[in-house]
Amino acid sequence: MRDLLRAACFAADKHAAQRRKGGAAEPYVNHVLEVARLVADALDEPDEPLVMAALLHDTLEDTETTYAELVEKFSEDVASLVAEVTDDTSLSKAERKRLQIEHAHTRSKRAQAIKLADKISNLRSMLNSPPAGWDEARKLEYVEWAREVVAALPEPNLKLRVEFERTWRAFRGL
Ligand code: ZN
Repeated sequence: MRDLLRAACFAADKHAAQRRKGGAAEPYVNHVLEVARLVADALDEPDEPLVMAALLHDTLEDTETTYAELVEKFSEDVASLVAEVTDDTSLSKAERKRLQIEHAHTRSKRAQAIKLADKISNLRSMLNSPPAGWDEARKLEYVEWAREVVAALPEPNLKLRVEFERTWRAFRGL
């Protein structure tokens, strides 16, 4: 439990200045807590490092955090899980989106759970508090891309898969 809270505090510190893109502009840490909770709720067997990695999943991509820092503060296992769900930020946004689909099948089963929970959280945001200035077409494009990423995951956690589909249906009004 201490390790989990350490990871939560680390994420809160690192994301302290960031807010979600949605109209409600929630603190970014709300997103990582939601992702971690989705992962924890969906697991059949406890996996604390995986829940810690879910808390930390955006630190490499969106903050100054380094891989070495995650290894030192947490563990190689946690750091490598975070790295698995991190895009190469030197690439264009379009290329990163394409690679998320193309590389989905190479992700470990545990990393796939984080990826899937992340997409659920993003879809919920798109539904409840979409980014200001995004028209329907842009939102739809995002949501359909997220669904393609999820469809490309070879071993998705089934509870999370069901929740993703439920959220996608709500978005599409189905
Ligand atoms: Zn995320």
